[in-house]
This record gives sequence, structure tokens and C-alpha cells, in this order.
Amino acid sequence: MPAITADTLTLPRLPELPETATDWRGVTKVVKAQKFLEGEGFQVRRPFPGVDLSDADPFLLLDQMGAVEYGPGEAKGAPWHPHRGFETVTYMIDGAMQHTDSIGGGGLITDGSTQWMTAGAGILHNEMPPPELIAKGGLFHGVQLWVNLPRSMKMTQPRYQDIEARDARLLSSDDGGALVRVIAGELDGHKGPGSTYTPITYLHATLSAGARLAMPWPEDFTAMVYVLSGRGTVGAERRPLDEGHLAVFGRGEALTMQAADTQPGNSPSWEILVLGGKPINEPVARYGPFVMNTRQEILDAFDDYQAGRLGTIPAIHRTSSDEELT
Ligand code: MN
Repeated sequence: MPAITADTLTLPRLPELPETATDWRGVTKVVKAQKFLEGEGFQVRRPFPGVDLSDADPFLLLDQMGAVEYGPGEAKGAPWHPHRGFETVTYMIDGAMQHTDSIGGGGLITDGSTQWMTAGAGILHNEMPPPELIAKGGLFHGVQLWVNLPRSMKMTQPRYQDIEARDARLLSSDDGGALVRVIAGELDGHKGPGSTYTPITYLHATLSAGARLAMPWPEDFTAMVYVLSGRGTVGAERRPLDEGHLAVFGRGEALTMQAADTQPGNSPSWEILVLGGKPINEPVARYGPFVMNTRQEILDAFDDYQAGRLGTIPAIHRTSSDEELT
């Protein structure tokens, strides 16, 4: 059950879009997330990269962490590692993650809040479950999205935006059957809290069984739907989309999706992310935690990292896993 909930009857409503007279975007591709181990060995489901990157542009990576109920001593994180050339957006649906960085920042991302980190020219950080979660165990469910930066912004100064759960803009579908949380960007003129260098829209929607969600979508944005849990269909063609699957949409002016009448036992509703943005359309050179435009810039990033120019780990936090790259 996501931490951010609301009575949809009290919220602003999305416009009613006619079934037949709307230029719905069709589904061009459906992919299943692959499972990977990250950091100290926590499992993520990663729907992309994997699809042709031009489908996901301006996004680079999406990781679903959990949902998992950790036992005592089981929770794991990602020890110190660098980033350069993009932004990471960590949205904690349930539970908490603690972070510390090389520029003196740090804090707790918890229960519906989002941390927006612009790595820009470079930063070192760690992303760990808080000590209480490690000690006692508990529910952990989050999503990390990587948003690319255009060439002109890749070496910008690092910065943070801490977005509290109460800052997310909440909207309702036209009939009240779906709750939409605007994490970043805007939807139908309703602005979310995140300020982005690259124009994007990033939503988390909860659709009750059988509910339909339709929304206008900027024609120059890419569009994707990823299923956190539950089942439903996407597009006017009603393409089935289950947990851990990602749909990529083609061109058009609006998106439509519908939760299945019957949901699986682990999910009373259909929980989805809806995301897209203005493609950057530049060459992408990536290696691990660095995403640049050319291979030479990746080599430079390694040199700068080794020389400490991406920052250094604060002495108090130094551990044996300092040199790991995630
Ligand atoms: Mn990281």
C-alpha cells in the first residue's frame, strides 16, 4: 500500500476524453523487466535500459527496488560510488533510504518522498537502508529513475531537491477511480514539485479494479507505462500489461489505460508509473555510473574519479567498500 493516499473525490479531476474522438497513442512495444543485483546485493527489476534507448530518451534507467519485506539484518544498500552526467530521482513508495554524499549533503528519503539528485559534473554518494530498517527489518519499496542531461548541462554543479510526500501534486481520473501523484513535471496544467533540466512528466497512479485512466500527453514527449503491481491494459487496443512489464507508446495526443476487473492477491489495485519527456536526441556513451556523449568523456570521468575530482568520501564514513562502482 503506497504511503501517499487520498480520497479522490476531494481532488482536481482530469478532463473526460471521448473514447472515439481522441488521438490515442498506440502501444509500440512491451518489455519485461530483467532482474539484477545491485550494491551489496539487493534485487532490482529493471525494464530499461534494454529497449532501444531512443524509446526511453530522455530516461536512461528505471529500477524498481522491492516491494520486499526484509527480515532483521537482511536490508542492503549501495555503498559509496560516483555519478556524472545525469540526474537520479529516487521515489520511496514505502519504507526509507538514507543517503550521504561528498559535498556535505545527506538525509532520509521516506514514505512517499522523493530525492532528486543532479550529479552533473560529479558527486560521490551512498544509498543505504537506515540502521533501524537493517536492525529490525520491514517493508521497502522504491523506484530510482535516471534522467539524462543534455550535453550543455552535463558538467553543471551538483544539486539536490528534497521533495516531501505532501508536496506531490494529487489528481483524480475523470470518474474518481484512479489517484494520480505528479512526482515531477506537469499533467493537464497541474504542476508537480520537481524542477527538471530536461522537460519530463513522471506520475505514480493507483487504479482501483476496473477503473479507467485517460490523460492528455504532450505530443513532443515520449511515453511509457511501467507496472509496479497488479494488472491492466494500455492503449485503445487494450494491450495487457502485468506486474514488471513496461509499455512504450507511439505518437498521438493522449494516453489511456484501464485496471483489470480482477486483481492478483498481492495487489488490491493496479499500481503504475507513467513517464515520458522531451527526447534529448544526442549520442549516449555510458559506463556504469557515468553517462556522457563520447567515449573520451567516459575515460575522462574515470580519470577524474581516480584523481578525486568527483569529490572524496568524508573520513567519518570511510569503509572497506569505498572503491566499489555501482
Ligand atoms: Mn547512486
